[in-house]
Amino acid sequence: TADVAWASRWVHETAQSIADHRDELTELDRQIGDGDHGENMVRGFRAVVAKLDALEEPPATVGEVLKLVATTLMSTVGGAAGPLYGTAYLRASKVADVTELDGKGVVAVLEAALEGVQARGKATAGEKTMVDALVPAVEAAVAAADSGGDAAQVFAAAAQAAQQGAEATVPLVATKGRASYLGERSAGHEDPGAASTALVLAAGVAASE
Ligand code: ADP
Ligand code: MG
Ligand code: MG
Repeated sequence: TADVAWASRWVHETAQSIADHRDELTELDRQIGDGDHGENMVRGFRAVVAKLDALEEPPATVGEVLKLVATTLMSTVGGAAGPLYGTAYLRASKVADVTELDGKGVVAVLEAALEGVQARGKATAGEKTMVDALVPAVEAAVAAADSGGDAAQVFAAAAQAAQQGAEATVPLVATKGRASYLGERSAGHEDPGAASTALVLAAGVAASE
């Protein structure tokens, strides 16, 4: 069940997974960017966990958890990823004003996150960004919900598609963000933001197991 306790576990699992994969994300960003994506994400999610754990009262809705993630990432993560993830979580929080998400609710959250990233960064699919993990995630979520999947099943389908989407960024040429400065030389490397997006979604699956 994708309830408030799950949302809180999702945050903790994300922070742990990002920390575990910090060097990998850093290495990916070293190949086609400035090598700070691992550090940026670790700093951000460490701050999120600290804020969540310091709350005097537990959050009442899934949306409250997501909003805390949004505001914390926006204020602690610089560069491109901070505002992009921040906007994603903020938009997601607005469609999650409930104590528990069902399958359709998970779809709505993922769609809102994608819309937030695109509103902020203007990237479309195929530009070698986190959008390339989120677009297939949303598509898979819609399909899973249409065939009657519950929240955990819909989220698992999304996470698997995001991982495949991230891997599929390898041959792409970046046309948005810092990696676009490399032009054709950006091909042959996985996009770090797509990789971290896949980790974030996988953490949501781990949180529901
Ligand atoms: P910076 O590039 O400022 O150092 P990060 O390294 O933290 O920021 O994040 C880089 C990631 O941000 C990229 O791998 C890419 O996935 C994502 N990104 C950059 N620009 C955009 C954009 N316009 N739209 C979507 N995602 C983007
Ligand atoms: Mg960077
Ligand atoms: Mg940077």
